[in-house]
Amino acid sequence: MPQRIHHLDSLTIDQIAAGEVIDVPASCVKELVENSLDAGANDILVEVSLGGRDLIRVTDNGCGMGRDDIISSIERYATSKLQHIDDLQRLLSRGFRGEALASIVSISHVTITSAEKDGDAPICSATTLVAEGGKICSVIDTQAPPGTTVEVASLFYNVPARRKFLKSPAKDSQDIIKTMTCLSLASPSVSFRLIVDGRQVIGVTAEQSEPLNARIRALLKDPFVNDSFDVRHTRDGFSLTGLIADPRHARSTRSGQYLIVNGRYVVSFPMSYAIKAAFGTTCEDGKHPLFALHLSLDPSSIDVNVHPQKKEVRFADEEWVRMLVQESVSEALFGKRGFSTSCDASLPLYSQSSASESNEDVFSAWRYAAVEEAPVMAFEMAKGTSSSAPQCLVVMGDVALIKLPRTSVFPLAIPDDALLLLDLRQAMRAVVFRDFENSSSELRTELFLVPISFDCSSQEAALITQAIPEFEKIGVIVRSIGPQTFLIEGAPKLFLDIDLQKFCIDIAYEGVLSSHDAKRAALHKRLATTYVATMKALRFPVDPDVALTIFTRWSQHDFPELSPDGKPCYSQLTSSSLKEWIVKGVK
Ligand code: ADP
Ligand code: MG
Repeated sequence: MPQRIHHLDSLTIDQIAAGEVIDVPASCVKELVENSLDAGANDILVEVSLGGRDLIRVTDNGCGMGRDDIISSIERYATSKLQHIDDLQRLLSRGFRGEALASIVSISHVTITSAEKDGDAPICSATTLVAEGGKICSVIDTQAPPGTTVEVASLFYNVPARRKFLKSPAKDSQDIIKTMTCLSLASPSVSFRLIVDGRQVIGVTAEQSEPLNARIRALLKDPFVNDSFDVRHTRDGFSLTGLIADPRHARSTRSGQYLIVNGRYVVSFPMSYAIKAAFGTTCEDGKHPLFALHLSLDPSSIDVNVHPQKKEVRFADEEWVRMLVQESVSEALFGKRGFSTSCDASLPLYSQSSASESNEDVFSAWRYAAVEEAPVMAFEMAKGTSSSAPQCLVVMGDVALIKLPRTSVFPLAIPDDALLLLDLRQAMRAVVFRDFENSSSELRTELFLVPISFDCSSQEAALITQAIPEFEKIGVIVRSIGPQTFLIEGAPKLFLDIDLQKFCIDIAYEGVLSSHDAKRAALHKRLATTYVATMKALRFPVDPDVALTIFTRWSQHDFPELSPDGKPCYSQLTSSSLKEWIVKGVK
């Protein structure tokens, strides 16, 4: 029998290993920029084209490398950052495995030019190494400014399997922007520029005062610029600093959460939960608060070696860290304004007239209202406490307790002495879904007299720019007027009650509109969910008048029993069920 087991050649080993470290172009950018940061650079330029598959070039003003070090740098397990496993305990550098450059070189064409500092000389003796598919092609002496430039061309050119699974260049560019946003948030004392296909997408310089908060505001813009709380808590080797946005900006995804632990951007669900817990009831279930925070701990109390791309960390005493994180965030939130944070939910929902579709006055009145964040009623609010009108007794969270009049025409079997429990969100989903379904194939846009302008992060800007034609299909007109600034110029009337900026960002993140296979009904289901999630009047605490308005709209659609996802919209509360609870409580 011929022998079946054989040793892999070193290029194949490198290419397989590369799959772990460099799975997408953004990981290549991350590894190269982290090397620049480890080299002490305070000015880093990143240029990419075609989502990074054509070119990724990172130029830094760090310590540079001499000829021998350049040659060693592309060998696997060659590093200047670690000698023994014990060093990991004290490690402050971002890299330590000595794998990144070897991996990158095995799957692309790489040119590294590096020069060590020579006094104040602007140009020093340098070395340029060219490698291809893991092999060095040439090493030549040259002249260059102090620092290092690594140029990666034709990434994945010799790993067709990996190329096949790449996303679109636009998606890869978005991932690169996100990666660079995280890296720039992690190192506020370093200047960063990111150029994507010749266009500058990120350009931040180190600020003298409050560098972290200034960096967060420069990168993430709204709502961190105007509507955020300062977190600043230091104790026993623990420190948490940065900004958290007012709870009303919470999103349905975790896309606005940035946690940097000891200089590394990481995803940590335990910490996300701790932060959410600190928000208490000010942040609804299913919503995720926005934050950008630096957590610093003694390096020996965290393990960074648990994820190939170091995107996760493990804490030696997770409970202790969680407790302190929660405490720091709640101090920042409630030390400033007390438990009930600002909420405009008590404002009515709709503009006064739904009948006069093209009534300019009403519409402009609404526009002015919207500028001040105050939605107005689209139909007569169901106020009034006469015995012939339904009454909302109380709203608990999302659920309204509604008393129906004795002469009720309510077609469902609710006994006279019972209360209606209406799940406002599910009911609203059912209503909006039907509104979407009933709207003619094109939703008619109403142009705003005063467009809504908003700023966002570069990553969000890239997503929104891509979604502009899709927004247009649902009648929402969005125009880009700056690298990170947009104008919402119009929207169908149906959209008057929502926070349109948040709606656009949520929809762009979810990619709801661009999934071509989505059937009309499925699309409307998703739109209804995002719509309800961004309704201003449904922010906690919900006003009883708002609940009644929702009840009225729900009734106008013949009291749908289920939301489009099949969840019940209502139930009933009878005196016998209350008695049962009382009996249970005594036991
Ligand atoms: P690691 O960062 O884990 O050490 P890498 O493969 O990323 O492994 O890099 C190998 C070595 O090359 C680093 O330890 C460092 O000494 C050197 N190096 C890489 N990039 C740079 C750079 N931009 N400036 C200076 N030295 C660098
Ligand atoms: Mg490295």
